[in-house]
Amino acid sequence: MHEYVGNVHLHSTYSDGALTIPAIAKIGARKGLDFLIVTDHQTLAGLEQEQEGYYDKTLVLIGMEANEHSHHYLALNVHKVVPDNENQPQKVIDEVNQQNGIGIIAHPVERGSKFYHNGLVFEWTDWSVQGFQGIEIWNYLSRWRDQLTNIMSGLRLIIRPSVSLHKGPYRQTLDILDGYQSRGQRVFAYGGSDAHGIRIRLPLINVDIGSYEEGFRSINTHILSEQPLQGSLAHDKKLIYTALAEGNSWVGCDYYKDSRGFRFLAQSPQGKWGMGSVVPYHDNITLRVQTPHHARVALMRNGKPWSFSQGHHHRFPVNRLGVYRIEAQHRRILKWQPWIFSNPIWIL
Ligand SMILES: [Zn+2]
Ligand SMILES: [Zn+2]
Repeated sequence: MHEYVGNVHLHSTYSDGALTIPAIAKIGARKGLDFLIVTDHQTLAGLEQEQEGYYDKTLVLIGMEANEHSHHYLALNVHKVVPDNENQPQKVIDEVNQQNGIGIIAHPVERGSKFYHNGLVFEWTDWSVQGFQGIEIWNYLSRWRDQLTNIMSGLRLIIRPSVSLHKGPYRQTLDILDGYQSRGQRVFAYGGSDAHGIRIRLPLINVDIGSYEEGFRSINTHILSEQPLQGSLAHDKKLIYTALAEGNSWVGCDYYKDSRGFRFLAQSPQGKWGMGSVVPYHDNITLRVQTPHHARVALMRNGKPWSFSQGHHHRFPVNRLGVYRIEAQHRRILKWQPWIFSNPIWIL
């Protein structure tokens, strides 16, 4: 299997981001990312101006983010602008499906901060929707802003933005995703930076909000593919979008420890199945997990912790039907740092 790491939610000067796509790509390449998906608000201008392609070793693809005040929706692998419809987000989802795109509900749960437009949030509230491909379970910028609760936390977050990673994603967001997955729907977890690269210059300090540098080394989506990238836009675009759609992937908080090398699969004498697979129940299925560093691993079944393991290699025999996914934490000084959130394997 070939592993590729990318950031699937970020903004450029085509909307409210601070840098052009070539400048962003340079940062992505420096951070070792294999792909970036630019998701400017309400526009595919980057696509229209043929900005997709390889910049050094990093492939830049262009999607968009639909809707303005609520129900933000990432539309990947689309070729026409997806019109906003905040009151009927199902229409936005349907339009992305019409174009055979990949649609991801962005930062559905937000608390807001009194320092940002008096607590303004961009939540997803209509959960009657169906047919979307994924939920962004961890949005770096949104989690950073939500923790700006007072002057002290604000100073800490400005001086060391990575402290915003310590609490991990909202459990409420994971619960929503677990709900869909437990009902047998192939809806997957994605994570991104939502980088905008905004810099506010104050007399004593520069305040960076959602910097590309920090974002690209923080919350990434890792994909596994049987075929390797070949260095051509057409081939590799298809490969990356196929892998993203199939859910053989995980969300990694790569800031302290790179999650490259993580693996999660179901194995039995009859075969092997990766994340995103639906496996018919049979005897002697074992779920196998490999973590690139010592980790505390929770096997989640139907959204609830089911079994635990510590170390590098983890094995869980399966004797019940269910949807299984992994949450892994690594050691950070005396604490456990939320690290890897895998996509699930259904055993049905
Ligand atoms: Zn958004
Ligand atoms: Zn965004």
